[in-house]
Amino acid sequence: MSNALGHSIFAAIITIFFISILNASMEVKITAGIIAFGFAFLPDIDHPKAVARKAYREFGTIIVALVLFAMLWIYGKMEVVLAIALSALLAIAFIKISEKFMPKHRGITHKFAFAGMLAVAMYIIMAVIGNKHAAIYAISGLIGYCSHIILDRMPI
Ligand SMILES: [Zn+2]
Repeated sequence: MSNALGHSIFAAIITIFFISILNASMEVKITAGIIAFGFAFLPDIDHPKAVARKAYREFGTIIVALVLFAMLWIYGKMEVVLAIALSALLAIAFIKISEKFMPKHRGITHKFAFAGMLAVAMYIIMAVIGNKHAAIYAISGLIGYCSHIILDRMPI
């Protein structure tokens, strides 16, 4: 079982179990649950039709376009219409080119070592910005991410 529905169900079960044993406030439990559930879709960013890739393509384009627009219009003092057009075109091109460099399906993004490194990076970033629950959220991400890898490796 490795489609989006299967991953959603499995991730929901793992997430509900995880937050039910978590000794934390309701706010932290809900945030941890959202992180665990969301991270269960991330490994398939390496698949062109996956939910994670679509999100990367759509939100990625918007984020890159906004950053470019800010650079061109605010800092570059470019004409606003030209800045919008140029940042949109460059963002689309950037995301399209970046997709050419995605690893093959079920490659590095489907390794437990990669999941571990991602969780450590997440912990460090959140600890640096002063999040008090950095460890819980990093573990939530790790659990969600690993639930995907485990399900993909099941022979059903
Ligand atoms: Zn997968």
